[in-house]
Amino acid sequence: MKFGTKAVHAGVKPDPATGAIMTPVFQTSTYAQASPGKHKGFEYSRTQNPTRMALEQSISALENGKHGLCFASGMAAIDTLVKTLNPGDEVISTDDLYGGSYRLFTRVYEKYGIKFHFVNLTEKEKVSSLINDKTRLIWVETPTNPMMTVVDIPALVEMVKGRGILVAVDNTFATPYLQQPLDLGADVVMHSVTKYLAGHSDVVMGALVVNDDALAEQLYFLQNSSGAVPGPQDSFLTLRGIKTLHLRMQRHCENAAIIADFLSGHAALEKVYWPGYTSHPNHDVAQKQMKAFGGMLSMQLKGDKKETFRVMEKFKVFTIAESLGGVESLCNHPVTMTHASIPPHERERLGITDSLIRLSVGIEDADDLLDDLQQALG
Ligand SMILES: *Cc1c(COP(=O)(O)O)cnc(C)c1O
Repeated sequence: MKFGTKAVHAGVKPDPATGAIMTPVFQTSTYAQASPGKHKGFEYSRTQNPTRMALEQSISALENGKHGLCFASGMAAIDTLVKTLNPGDEVISTDDLYGGSYRLFTRVYEKYGIKFHFVNLTEKEKVSSLINDKTRLIWVETPTNPMMTVVDIPALVEMVKGRGILVAVDNTFATPYLQQPLDLGADVVMHSVTKYLAGHSDVVMGALVVNDDALAEQLYFLQNSSGAVPGPQDSFLTLRGIKTLHLRMQRHCENAAIIADFLSGHAALEKVYWPGYTSHPNHDVAQKQMKAFGGMLSMQLKGDKKETFRVMEKFKVFTIAESLGGVESLCNHPVTMTHASIPPHERERLGITDSLIRLSVGIEDADDLLDDLQQALG
């Protein structure tokens, strides 16, 4: 089955009791049993819920995976994966990382004796010099947030092959419409479902997708034991959102390409970060492993922080807000907003400066977005 058909149908079957086309919101905590222990596969909604299950099947189908698990947030999904590790284990993570992931790794899990290395994953020698017999996980984000670095997933998979090291990809920015990490050899895909998958800025949710049965069993155990599961109403909203994922992504990508074209060489800008430019350092990798270049881009203004804020305040269609991937265009100041938990020296090194604005390009009419950028940039 092709992607668009799966987006509409996977996991969703007419309700056997009523024929309802859409999976009902099973707003229930528990399930009647005919006799103690004799039930229909559902005991308690932390463990299983039919609405959540339909969504888990939908997301795993879109990622061409075998097992999908949903969580109360993207961070809860990452947290669950990290809980499969043991004290003494080491993780190699991308250095240009979602601020919340950086905070979870360094401020929550380091104290339990898990060691995290942060490195530019496009520098193969550096990555390979960090790999040792304690390495258990490579944590990849691609494209990265907010610098839009594209990491070659098959190259990393090749590097760790046969060494008992998992490759996990945070696929939030790309979505399975653009990039399917399991098909590229990765072991785990993670999503902040909050963003493009749900797509309407009305849900906070996370997901993990894996192929390996033993790993899935371990993750189900942790999902049930720690209990950071999403509720049925949010699962329903996300199932509904996913049905248009392919259409939304097409438009996000088209609009971002039009905007990237407009911003390229703009007099008010120092630099624009977008993997679709042929001059982007990882453009060839993006072309190889992604279907298109996504709806995210970052721009560095020539002016200082004050001027940057002034531009952001002038936007009429772009709204100043955290998050991304919704139908509406948003702009974000990473230093003050999403990346405040990354230490200043680390941000400077990565190029996350006071003059950097990240855009999440929505699905509005491109002309209105261009007009907005034009009037704000002056
Ligand atoms: C938002 C985000 C997360 C965290 O997900 P939540 O749903 O906010 O918990 C992780 N990774 C990336 C790339 C994100 O954008």
